[in-house]
Amino acid sequence: MTHAKKKKGSLEIICGPMFSGKSEELIRRLRRAVIAQQNVAVFKHAIDDRYDNTNVTSHNGTKLLAHATDSGEHLLAKALSENYTVVGIDEVQFYTTDIISTICALVEAGARVVVAGLDMDYRGIPFGPMPTLLAIADSITKLKAICTKCGSDAHFSQLLENNRPTTINSGPLILTGASDKFTARCRGCHEIDKGFDYNEYRETQF
Ligand SMILES: [Zn+2]
Repeated sequence: MTHAKKKKGSLEIICGPMFSGKSEELIRRLRRAVIAQQNVAVFKHAIDDRYDNTNVTSHNGTKLLAHATDSGEHLLAKALSENYTVVGIDEVQFYTTDIISTICALVEAGARVVVAGLDMDYRGIPFGPMPTLLAIADSITKLKAICTKCGSDAHFSQLLENNRPTTINSGPLILTGASDKFTARCRGCHEIDKGFDYNEYRETQF
């Protein structure tokens, strides 16, 4: 007796710093899936309330209807009950690590999952669930912004306070939108008043 093998899905990640065009790239891929008449949904974290509550909006103003939720469990239930074949998740770094099992379950169920998110926070530290997601992804697109100081390719998000680089513990980890508080910087131009200890970081992760 043979069983038909259930086709599994895949995980695509679009990562990079702020202003690198992640949401635009996410929307571009999802638009193509809509044209291909796939059953497409896009989710975003409820914390990301910039611009709009029901749309994923990129800095250039392109929109796609989005479900806002901060719960991986809720996202999974919604995606499975609606039989979405393509599931986009924007700002995936804001979710807690339970988003990893949600994404794995969707991929197992056959969905094409496309996520966009910051790979590092403004301190240059890997952001929330991103390191694990990057490890298990089928494909990764790491976008670059342009360094506002020297014009090179930039893959850091620089947080500024009074036009000065912030200190490492001086502000909340999560700050959305607020493009006036952030700028893109290359490795050479990224500044942080106080460095951090990778060994200490590792101990807090596991
Ligand atoms: Zn630079």
